[in-house]
Amino acid sequence: MATKTRKPQLTKQPTSAALCLIPNCRRPAKLRGLCAACLQAFYRSVRSGELTEAQAIEQRLVLPKSKAGRKRSPWSKAAARIEGSTR
Ligand SMILES: [Zn+2]
Repeated sequence: MATKTRKPQLTKQPTSAALCLIPNCRRPAKLRGLCAACLQAFYRSVRSGELTEAQAIEQRLVLPKSKAGRKRSPWSKAAARIEGSTR
């Protein structure tokens, strides 16, 4: 049977633009680059002292707070567009 499992092309889909940063997790990112489940696990790890938030950011397991907070503002959208076109 011919399966239609081709990888989706990079079309403009705002809702599915960002996936969870965790490699084995393919859920859409909700906050700071993580899905809800990974975000909870991340907070749990930080609280239990497994790692610090700074370490997680350094390892790119989570996005810095400032970026995530501005993600929805019109300015950051415009700025992101500029960044993408100049690279
Ligand atoms: Zn996840």
